[in-house]
Amino acid sequence: GKEKKNDEGANYDIGLQDVGDGTGIVTRFPPEPSGYLHVGHAKAALLNDYFAHEKYKGTLILRFDDTNPIKEKQEFQDAIVEDLALMGIKPDKVTYTSDYFQQLYEYCVQMIKEGNAYADDTLQEKMREERMNGIPSERRDSSVEDNLARFEEMKKGTEEGIRWCIRAKISVDDPNKAMRDPVIYRCSPEVHHRTGDKWKIYPTYDFCCPIVDSYEGVTHALRTTEYNDRDAQYQWILKALKLRHVYNWGFSRLNFVRTLLSKRKLTKIVDTGFVDGWDDPRMPTVRGVRRRGVTIPALREFILKQGPSKNIVNLDWYSFWATNKKHIDPIAGRYTAIADAAKVPVKVVGAREGVTTEEKDKHAKFDLGKKKVVYSSSILLEQADAASFAQDEEITLMNWGNAFVRKISHSSDPAASPGQKTVTGLELELHLQGDVKKTSKKVTWLSTDQNLVPVQLHEFDYLITKDKLEEGDELEKFLNPNTRTITHALADCNVAELREDDIIQFDRKGYFRIDKGFKPGEDVVAFLIPTGKSK
Ligand code: ATP
Ligand code: MG
Ligand code: MG
Repeated sequence: GKEKKNDEGANYDIGLQDVGDGTGIVTRFPPEPSGYLHVGHAKAALLNDYFAHEKYKGTLILRFDDTNPIKEKQEFQDAIVEDLALMGIKPDKVTYTSDYFQQLYEYCVQMIKEGNAYADDTLQEKMREERMNGIPSERRDSSVEDNLARFEEMKKGTEEGIRWCIRAKISVDDPNKAMRDPVIYRCSPEVHHRTGDKWKIYPTYDFCCPIVDSYEGVTHALRTTEYNDRDAQYQWILKALKLRHVYNWGFSRLNFVRTLLSKRKLTKIVDTGFVDGWDDPRMPTVRGVRRRGVTIPALREFILKQGPSKNIVNLDWYSFWATNKKHIDPIAGRYTAIADAAKVPVKVVGAREGVTTEEKDKHAKFDLGKKKVVYSSSILLEQADAASFAQDEEITLMNWGNAFVRKISHSSDPAASPGQKTVTGLELELHLQGDVKKTSKKVTWLSTDQNLVPVQLHEFDYLITKDKLEEGDELEKFLNPNTRTITHALADCNVAELREDDIIQFDRKGYFRIDKGFKPGEDVVAFLIPTGKSK
């Protein structure tokens, strides 16, 4: 169809089925509180929010799908609420699948009584094989009484009960394997973070989802297209229990190259200490990418742009960072930093006596306020720049003016840097009437007559070394051993005023997000923000 653009510049021409006047639409985002939200979850959450609150005037439910007590924690639940708020998503209602344990139990009893479900104690491996080959379980035709008795054992969590599960009696050999008697209840004596030890039986996602969706008034259940095969099962359960109809609507899963988007794998990476936590800037979590320097409007724009696509592709991060660059450029003030290990002392001849300070704009095009630029005869330049200069060449000192290179001192020990000469000092003669448009080298510099701020510049790389991990790939074999490079630098005095979360640009070095602001005696920590050109 035709493409439409909305305020955020996103292209989508997507709609839900049978929406009427759009006011009765109810969608839901159903995370399991078993980890922090990653950018894939962000896509699901933003799409649900888009339909409920932007495209139609409806209701968005945040439903914690908390049916697997082994993996779930209050910490994760709280983080999900915070991260949605951070993304500007305001659910109209918050619900918990665990609040429906009683109803779900009763629905399961009803299914058993009506001959639509049975108890099974076939061992996992054998059950898998039977399902693959379309062979009925030995227990498939047990009596209702036996099935109910076994479900009661499960409910008590007895040794006998633990051996059993409940399966929907749909089909033995349907070509769609999702229809081959799926498991709907399991016995697990684990303590649940909300219901404690009240329940020893837990419904599966396949069973809860249609029932709770229907029960809560959801009109459209958005699911990633991997669930397409399970839509038939979802609809079967609704019909078997004579519940209100719900539409399924598929969207593509978000994947990125060299990126893990599985809570199970991310949990492993966090638990083994490979990263510093869920909000580590190398993590593809909402918190991680934000700490790396993505703005929330950029995240929303990027994800909604993917909205209409139903193809599952392995996206690269370039376009993600390119989208972000448009958002950060106008808000990033300009500062100067010089790598500490590569600093070259420079004497400037012809500068005004003493030390002078001028106020300059932090940004050439946007009004971001002023910063101080300190001028004096003693400055620092970076080695790579200094080493490129020719005797008597005219160069430009950014924010100051032109100068001639009058003296170049080289290292007396060529062995220290074989193959190239290290510049140990320079003398420049100012030539302020020179035309800055005519020089080919515009270099950053810093007067030493100011309180230079020590800064750590951190640059990150992908956590894994393979574009796409395959099913059997062992995560440990593909972990990138070197994912953080730190450069120690000195920055201009204005950097002392920056605070955590500020986004800036160090001239000729790139965009950075301040992760730790200035404290006397400590380094400022700044994270390089990719822009799409490189990583
Ligand atoms: P994970 O594999 O990371 O554990 P999940 O699907 O098991 O993901 P849930 O908490 O159940 O985790 O996910 C909540 C919602 O987010 C679901 O509706 C799911 O479809 C959606 N979702 C999860 N991962 C992605 C992804 N990569 N792209 C798009 N949507 C996703
Ligand atoms: Mg899930
Ligand atoms: Mg999962």
